[in-house]
Amino acid sequence: MGLLDGKRILVTGVLTDASLAFAVARLAQQHGAEVVLSGAGRGLSLTRRTARKLTGDVEVLEMDVTRPDQLVAAAAALGRRWDRLDGLLHAIGFAPPECLGGDIFRAQWDQVQVALQVSAYSLKALVEAFRPMLAAAGTEGGMGASVVGLDLDAAVAWPVYDWMGVAKAALESLSRYLARDLGSQRVRVNLVAAGPVKTVAAKSIPGFSTFEDTWAERAPLGWDVRDSEVVAKACIGLMSDLFPMTTGEILHVDGGVHAVGG
Ligand code: NAP
Repeated sequence: MGLLDGKRILVTGVLTDASLAFAVARLAQQHGAEVVLSGAGRGLSLTRRTARKLTGDVEVLEMDVTRPDQLVAAAAALGRRWDRLDGLLHAIGFAPPECLGGDIFRAQWDQVQVALQVSAYSLKALVEAFRPMLAAAGTEGGMGASVVGLDLDAAVAWPVYDWMGVAKAALESLSRYLARDLGSQRVRVNLVAAGPVKTVAAKSIPGFSTFEDTWAERAPLGWDVRDSEVVAKACIGLMSDLFPMTTGEILHVDGGVHAVGG
């Protein structure tokens, strides 16, 4: 028996098979879920190609989270397929190059607002678009829906992460407000704060190797930057029926780095 038997899950943020979201989609299928993906912009064809590495004919919706028209169209398309949504993975992040690299003064508002919109506000935009379908999972005795977002612990200032760190702090706060406002509809909203994993997004951050090089040494449990499945397992757990009373939570999957001093 799978942890997600019979559940219907929308997974955003699959670009390549190195994407954290790909590990979530694959594991969700292995646990019995039906999965639909979404992709955006120039990456959409890559998402479609990556979808073929999953089991069966996986539908890919076009959905740039900064495009309200695409959010509406994607929700309508998914609504024609499913009458409810049990799980929603937010695995979306982007910041212009000026926002990263180790100088917080370099970026101006034009660049910062892009980072905040794509990496933080998009959680609200996404949940809003699929809210009726998420709420439907909590009716007629259903267990309720689970929204999971991917975070990098924003409690401290990291090297090079700069405005992405600020965006993650916003994402953390936003997840708590969404948890507050969606609890009455039995929709849970939680984040998984992951340690560094080698993905396209991670490689685009100049100096990200400073995270990767030191993480394993600092982590009480050790850390493998090529292992996305440990992050996926936590997402699957939060989407399963094993955490029915957990919302507004940040679950650290970082080998324990958040718990120890430098
Ligand atoms: P990834 O494979 O590059 O995934 C990032 C995804 O965000 C891509 O699919 C990208 O699609 C999508 N995206 C960017 N702008 C978008 C937009 N406007 N609309 C819709 N989708 C958009 O990298 P990843 O590392 O797995 O990142 C997934 C999440 O995990 C991010 O939130 C990231 O911050 C978080 N995270 C990553 C790490 C790590 O070390 N890798 C650690 C902690 C947390 P396009 O490229 O097609 O735009």
